[in-house]
Amino acid sequence: MSSFKHENVEDLYELLEKLGSGHFGEVRKCKEKSTGTFYAGKFIKTRKCKGSRMGLDREQVEREVFILQQLEHPNIMKLYDVFASKAEMVLILEMIRGGELFDFIAEKEALSEEEAIEFLEQILKGVAYMHARNIAHFDLKPENIMLLEKDIPHPKIKIIDFGLAQKIEDGTVYKSLCGTPQYIGPEVINYEPLGPPTDMWSIGVITYILLSGMSPFQGETDAETLTNVVAGNYEFDDRFFKETSEMAKDFIRQLLLKEPSDRMTAVECLIHPWIKPLNRKQAVNRSRSSINMKNFKKFNARRKWKLSYNMVSACNRLCRMKLLCNPVKNDEDLRQCESDQEDEKTKPVTLLRRRLSSCS
Ligand code: ATP
Repeated sequence: MSSFKHENVEDLYELLEKLGSGHFGEVRKCKEKSTGTFYAGKFIKTRKCKGSRMGLDREQVEREVFILQQLEHPNIMKLYDVFASKAEMVLILEMIRGGELFDFIAEKEALSEEEAIEFLEQILKGVAYMHARNIAHFDLKPENIMLLEKDIPHPKIKIIDFGLAQKIEDGTVYKSLCGTPQYIGPEVINYEPLGPPTDMWSIGVITYILLSGMSPFQGETDAETLTNVVAGNYEFDDRFFKETSEMAKDFIRQLLLKEPSDRMTAVECLIHPWIKPLNRKQAVNRSRSSINMKNFKKFNARRKWKLSYNMVSACNRLCRMKLLCNPVKNDEDLRQCESDQEDEKTKPVTLLRRRLSSCS
């Protein structure tokens, strides 16, 4: 892909309905006029000047673009083109029609571990590919795992939203207080070096939820969740894991390890016997074990409710704070954490900061 285009995106694409929204813009279906091909256009408002409260820093969007340009894998959303104007950048992305993986699963009556592994394996392949290029996603969570199409026999996973992703150059240390409390590793909270193992922790959390419908570290408040993460406090409660195989638990145990270098890498995960059985007995075991669908559906309904609640309360907060018209004093003031909680008062803003675009 060549450098950014400076013409008006509407000269080349017809803008159609909204597909989703982020904190600093929206994603719309676009039709390329010359070919009739559909894409997803991610419209991101950029800051006009350093002191402006509106929009993302242009460098942040450029970093997302720079990373996406290096990734070409069947399980990673592809970037086709970028338009840049003074106030906005538009990323022309592969159109993903199948919605979120968790929503797709929640519609099912039942799902065996074997079927869940089909999805997990694709996530791991995408993650192994990016890690091999020294790129870490740093925001792996159910909202960012989508399906290209859903009404087909074996839907294809697409990992999206590289807004927090980083290229970790050899010999450099990257630290950040970014992410969503439920999914971040202890090293994020402790402000220690981050890297590919940080993504592997998130995969451990996602797998735990997928199998049980429970979130391993979720507390009553964000502060409690963060304390649980740092302490590595989790268990496999029999009430929720009675249908789960021992191999699946072993897989999770080898990811939810406090020391990042002790965790399995994505490549190691792909050869763990739960993912790649060594014999018939192990294979049969997976197909007989199933995910806790009743609880998973409950988890997903709660998750969706929280996402919409957070979006509405973030808008209300912006209005209350008059962010839309007042200039800022301090860059740091802009930053907010991505909270799992509905209660704003419980949010340890100082501990966890999401990138500028996110304040739910
Ligand atoms: P956030 O601020 O929450 O991190 P964001 O601004 O980085 O969000 P994305 O997460 O990339 O934006 O996209 C927002 C939503 O738009 C997604 O949750 C998804 O529903 C939809 N979306 C994103 N990319 C695509 C795509 N390529 N095809 C279809 N829908 C998409």
